[in-house]
Amino acid sequence: MDRPRFVIDSAEAEQMAKQSGQTVLQLLPSLVKSAQILARPPISKYHVGAVGMGSSGRIFLGVNLEFPGLPLNQTVHAEQFLITNLSLNAEPRLQYLAVSAAPCGHCRQFLQELRGAPDVKLLISSSEDEKENEINNCCNDKDQEFTPLSHFLSHRFGPDDLLEKDAPLLLESHRNGLSFRSNLCNDKIDGGDDLKHAALEAANMSHAPYSGCPSGVALLDVEGKIYKGSYMESAAYNPSLPPAQAAVVAYVASCGGGGL
Ligand SMILES: [Zn+2]
Repeated sequence: MDRPRFVIDSAEAEQMAKQSGQTVLQLLPSLVKSAQILARPPISKYHVGAVGMGSSGRIFLGVNLEFPGLPLNQTVHAEQFLITNLSLNAEPRLQYLAVSAAPCGHCRQFLQELRGAPDVKLLISSSEDEKENEINNCCNDKDQEFTPLSHFLSHRFGPDDLLEKDAPLLLESHRNGLSFRSNLCNDKIDGGDDLKHAALEAANMSHAPYSGCPSGVALLDVEGKIYKGSYMESAAYNPSLPPAQAAVVAYVASCGGGGL
């Protein structure tokens, strides 16, 4: 792939796998390096790439985004980018995930918001693993193993501890029923009306079952394109992803890695 995109449809994924003599699952770790190139870590210089496959068979990319001059808790982790990417594309379920480094505790917790989280299959394709493979002369073994997320976070704390069983989880349909009370500002900005309605739409899709305070942000770029971001909460509260970060993810994913 010349220039990795952030979403690959299922037919193209199958074609790519076929051309490289792999299965689609084997393709996931092979795309991690391409994802890492798209990361934006000006503070840490530590590029993280995450490649996931959803239940539709589509492949999604995620990268870490860091913002100089802002508190570090504004950072978007690659796994959070990935989940936001699934959400933006109405993908209902994450099934497999390949990441360039072991997910941090924050991300292991954030992933718990997904239905069936313990069964999401995870593979860490770090360079250390590759070196080890070379040393062990097992480079041709393409059947790297995916391991259930429950292995990486046993004794989990998650939505089951705080919500009713049938409550919609992250990536599931939310209808928060928000509307405008009266005219707000922005009306005098070109695209302002569309912008505020996009923000409202994002708020209505927000996953905020713990605070009961759904919110959304919409960004307008110089070309007049609008990018929506929905607030996404975590049962552990702190790993929640603010809506502005989600909107920036939409912007980066749309630009294919350019523009930030
Ligand atoms: Zn993380």
